[in-house]
Amino acid sequence: MALVTTKEMFKKAYEGHYAIGAFNINNMEIIQGVVNGAKAKKSPVILQVSSGALKYAGPKYLKAMVDAAIADTGVDLALHLDHGPDFETVKLAIETGFTSVMFDGSHYEYEENVAKTKEVVEYAHARGVVVEAELGVLAGVEDDVKSDVHVYTDPAQAVDFVTRTGVDSLAIAIGTSHGAFKFAGEAKLRFDILEEIQEKLPNYPIVLHGASAVDPVAVATCNKYGGDIAGAKGIPTDMLRKASSMAVCKINMDTDLRLAFTAGIRKVFGDTPKEFDPRKYCGAGRVAIQATVEDKIANVLGSENTL
Ligand SMILES: [Zn+2]
Repeated sequence: MALVTTKEMFKKAYEGHYAIGAFNINNMEIIQGVVNGAKAKKSPVILQVSSGALKYAGPKYLKAMVDAAIADTGVDLALHLDHGPDFETVKLAIETGFTSVMFDGSHYEYEENVAKTKEVVEYAHARGVVVEAELGVLAGVEDDVKSDVHVYTDPAQAVDFVTRTGVDSLAIAIGTSHGAFKFAGEAKLRFDILEEIQEKLPNYPIVLHGASAVDPVAVATCNKYGGDIAGAKGIPTDMLRKASSMAVCKINMDTDLRLAFTAGIRKVFGDTPKEFDPRKYCGAGRVAIQATVEDKIANVLGSENTL
């Protein structure tokens, strides 16, 4: 088994009306939890690394741990750069051995986003690496980037963008948002926009960012054991299941992993205050990550038993 690009994964996901989970990794326990979950459910997964994670763990550590995960489990994995902010970070990821990169030029003026994305696509394709780009603006916080409002993706512009840049997949804004505080009122996704894009770009893989469910049980566990996470509200599972049966082939759910890991660790500290063995609490975090990933594969993504 090997590190693969997302090309074949997305083709099968599109035809099979399911999506691939993209899970953010920062350390060994998170990688093991995600990959063990994928193996247990016989599902492909995408491991993704933000520029914050690159700084935190270092590209060499992350790549070596991902190689170890493949050798240990035999699961096919794609290693993806999440929200690559500039050409330099994209280059670093490709030199490290990533099979997929996102270049996020969504905060640039449209023509500048087209030009910069095209440059990244040419560089990546020449090295056998696929590229994800983004159009529209998601509300919420991603690393250091923050936005207060949604700017929904314009379907006609999506066609123009994909045609001119040659990008392999496109993240769109239809109402999901980054972070744990997604909706003040009722959750609402613009399926009409997704449908129109699917009509205009048949068989083209679409990506949803900021699609965590913000599991109320994980939030409650964090808060019960000394946390203070208020008013969190995520994307309902049935909406994500519907999106993954349409053109959405990749769903990002980082917040749910963060909450699961933290809840697992907090519970150990709360239940056994004398404990100070890192294997005991990080191990509980790893178990919580695996349970979350298995639940996503079975109930949100629909990718169980597709390996
Ligand atoms: Zn994102």
